[in-house]
Parts: sequence; structure tokens; C-alpha cells
Amino acid sequence: MPYIHNTITGLMASSPAQSEFYQAVEEVLESLEPLLEKSPHYRKNHIIERMVEPERQIMFRVPWVDDNGEIHINKGYRIEFNSALGPYKGGLRFHPSVNASIIKFLGFEQIFKNALTGLQIGGGKGGSNFDPKGRSDNEIMRFCQSYMSELYRHIGPTTDVPAGDIGVGAREIGYMFGQYKRLTGRYEGVLTGKGTLWGGSLVRKEATGYGCVFFAENMLKSQGDDLKGKTCLVSGAGNVAIYTIEKLYQLGALPVSASDSSGTLYDAKGINLAHLKELKEQKRVSLQNYLEQYPHAEFVPVKDYPEDGHAVWRYKADAGFPCATQNELTEADAKALMTNGCNCISEGANMPSTPEAVEVFLRNKIHYGPGKAANAGGVATSQLEMSQNASMQQLSFEQVETRLKEIMHDIHQRCSETAKEFGQPHNLVLGANIAGFRRVADAMIEQGVV
Ligand code: GLU
Repeated sequence: MPYIHNTITGLMASSPAQSEFYQAVEEVLESLEPLLEKSPHYRKNHIIERMVEPERQIMFRVPWVDDNGEIHINKGYRIEFNSALGPYKGGLRFHPSVNASIIKFLGFEQIFKNALTGLQIGGGKGGSNFDPKGRSDNEIMRFCQSYMSELYRHIGPTTDVPAGDIGVGAREIGYMFGQYKRLTGRYEGVLTGKGTLWGGSLVRKEATGYGCVFFAENMLKSQGDDLKGKTCLVSGAGNVAIYTIEKLYQLGALPVSASDSSGTLYDAKGINLAHLKELKEQKRVSLQNYLEQYPHAEFVPVKDYPEDGHAVWRYKADAGFPCATQNELTEADAKALMTNGCNCISEGANMPSTPEAVEVFLRNKIHYGPGKAANAGGVATSQLEMSQNASMQQLSFEQVETRLKEIMHDIHQRCSETAKEFGQPHNLVLGANIAGFRRVADAMIEQGVV
């Protein structure tokens, strides 16, 4: 469609060097083709041109002092992408790879993901190119305080509500909340993923991983299958991966892998979850240490990865859960998974499969749950946290988990019904993009040209 091509070329000229952002936009626009043909009023209202341009982009300096008295300067970002459905909502990522392209791709994805939850939340994302690896607790605290010293003036419980993402968990949210409170004097639900002692929601920590497994279960159940007894590959070793593994065990599956920036861990007997938590949540050390206690497991260091992909996707399994980061699963990886009999992929990370890998999944008509649908449980539970804060109530673990399960069921339903409506019942990429887009676009039209 020339329209799509022109939009991407336009973005390349007006926002140069943002390849991840173009990738995310292209994937959405390609799926929208049949909708744009059927409903020309979206084009007439210039909805796409409006949607690809963030409402506001904030970039700032984050200076901080390390334990040796050295001064460091990082870049800080918050992109307030779309508020048609509610306050900007989306996480903060602290990772050395962060730049404007990464934050914009994440913010763009977040618009549709949040729309798919059916809740009143707009899309935003932020972060910094700060590298938390090897930093002491005090350094992390000073960085978070400096980051919030600028961010606080742009956010608020009814305007923009950040949360965590890669490199930002309960510890970082705690330091940022403390600084926000100190600067504004207000104790309010301005961040989600807070500690459960001081306004956080139960299940928020587990929500993205649990939700991603619920999504896989929904996909399988639609064809009379389930996860019981299935061997599963999981990548990543952060919050999302850990609680994906936990829920897989609870549903009777066998998760056999995890990965981090040092390499891939494979334990054919099933990853020992308690030990994984100890290594990653308490000690914050490399996965390689797993072998000290479980020498039967295998560890493939990054230097031994295949040239055309990632070691984790080369093992035999029935299902795969990419829970690490963008573009971590290549075309060659996808082909290897297909050859090894995998027929279900549910993405816990944001845009983990390259466009070529997605093509392989769609061509093979496997159960493929794209990130913006499959990992929406995290942000959905964030919204439950916002609503608990606003009403000064606290839900029990069971209440939140039940809601999460319902929300993931509804998201799957929305995606698969939309996919059916457009004559491609197996294509949840199309279903997710059209269903998410339609909700935001209709709200934008009703709210006028703003
Ligand atoms: N960073 C998460 C995501 O990618 C969660 C965002 C949130 O809870 O606001 O959806």
C-alpha cells in the first residue's frame, strides 16, 4: 500500500535513525490495510499521521555522582504518546541501549496494548541509557532521585503514570516514589509497581509473566489443547521470565530454559524456580552460577551463540516464551523452533520476534501471541493498582489474579474475533493491531482534532 510506504518514508525524514520505531509502526500499519480499505474515514481523519506523532516528548539530563565521587551524565526520556483513552501509562526502562528510537517504539506499542486491555489508559514510555549493572544500592538510589528530580513535574496520577520495565523494579520504583513525595509533598498513585507495604498492588510483580502464560493457555484452549505436560522454552531471567516460569509450573508445564546477558541456561529436568529467584532477585548474579548447585544443567555463553540467532531457541520444545527484549528471536530461530515441533509462541517481552520471524510463525499458522496482546497483563494490573490507590482500597491476591485472568481472556477474545472478522482467524497480529487501533482511533475522532 503506497500509503504505508509514504508514512514510513515520512517518518524516516522527520525522525531520522529510529529503526526500532519504524519497525513497530510498519508492523501495525501493515495489519491495518484491510481495515483502512473497509473504513476510509480513518484516512480522511488523518488518524495514522496523528497517531505516529507523540503528543509530547520530554528529554532531559540526568547527572549523578558514583560511590567514588565521579560525576556521570545520562539521558532521560519520557514520551507521552497518546492520551485518547486515559492518562499516559507505560514503564520506564533503564538500560544502556535506550535511545529515542527504543522509547518511541515501546511507547507506540503501549498505545495499542493498553487499548486492548479494555481499560482507560493511554500510552507512554520512558527511561534512560543508565546501566544499572554492577552499581551499588546507593548509586541506584542517587540515579533514581536525579531522574525523578526532572520527571516529577511532568507526571501525576491523572496525567501520566510510569511503572517499571527492563532495569526498573520495586527497588527503583521505591526510590523514585520517595523523591516524588519529597519534591511534591503528595502521597498519591503516581507510579505503579510500588511495594505492597505502601500502595502497590498484589500480583503486579507476577502479572506480566502470569498474563503471558494465561494468553498461551487461551490460544491453546481455543483448539481444545492446553499447557499441561508441554516442554517450554523461556528466554530472559528478569521479572517477566521468572513469573512466566512460575505460572508454567502451576499449569503443569515444564519450563527448561532461561537466559541473561551472559548466556543461556538449559535444564532438561526443569529450571529450579527457587534457585533462579535466589540468583536473580536476591543475589543479582549471572545465570552461570546455577551450575554450581545443578551441574547437570547446560550453560551456553553468549560467545558460543549461533551467528544467525540465539542459543535458547535451538532446543526442542512444544512452546516458546520470549521474555527478554526486542528482536531476540530471529528468522533462523523461528525456523529452528518450527523444525523442532514448537506450535505456540507467547511474547512476554515487547517486540521480541523480528518481522521475518513473525512471518515464519504466521506462515506456519502456529499459535502466535504478539507482545502487545500477550504481555498486556502487566500494564492491566498496573491499572488495577491505580484504581486501588484512587479508591484507597486493597484487593486480595486472589481477587487481582482473577481479574488478570479475565482480562487476558478478554484480550484473546478481542484479538481472535477481530482476526476472524477480517478473514484470517489464525492471525492474532492482525487481530491485535486492528482491535487496538480501532478503539484508540474511534476515541480520537470523537474527541476532535487535538
Ligand atoms: N513496562 C510494562 C509494559 O511493557 C508495564 C507498563 C506499566 O505497568 O505501566 O507493558
